[in-house]
Amino acid sequence: MTIALSEKLKIVNDHIDEADPPIHVIPLANKLGIEVYKADWPHSVSGKIQYDPELGGQSGFAIFVNAAHPETRRRFTIAHEIAHFILHEDQIGDGLFDDAMYRSGLSSFEEDDANKLAADILMPRQLIREFSFVGDDVETLAHQFNVSQSAMARRLGVAW
Ligand SMILES: [Zn+2]
Repeated sequence: MTIALSEKLKIVNDHIDEADPPIHVIPLANKLGIEVYKADWPHSVSGKIQYDPELGGQSGFAIFVNAAHPETRRRFTIAHEIAHFILHEDQIGDGLFDDAMYRSGLSSFEEDDANKLAADILMPRQLIREFSFVGDDVETLAHQFNVSQSAMARRLGVAW
């Protein structure tokens, strides 16, 4: 079952519209027909997305995430792999392995796009506006959205 890009983005936007922070990324993957698994890997590997008729969800795809990484990191990895599914499904081939720097063999341009969409998923600007209060600092917002403080600082465009 292949879903059109517009349909995938609608699923993401509907998920975000219904959400209070933090955004739950595994249910979002499931809505896109993807199953998510933890994997025992060295720290140098972040995650993988692959076509897997056995372990994959309705879409046929499965995401694997490094079980040893902290939760905020795992959430970013899952969002990044979801982004590859949305933007680069036709290039996943036998599987995309993202190292610790989120390099998978795709171009750095495509990895940047995946990182940007991952940030849009985890830290929607609309929700940040809605759920932050004057004086909220990076630490508070990072906690609220369950992301790393450095990711939130980048999102807000403040030095960290
Ligand atoms: Zn990647």
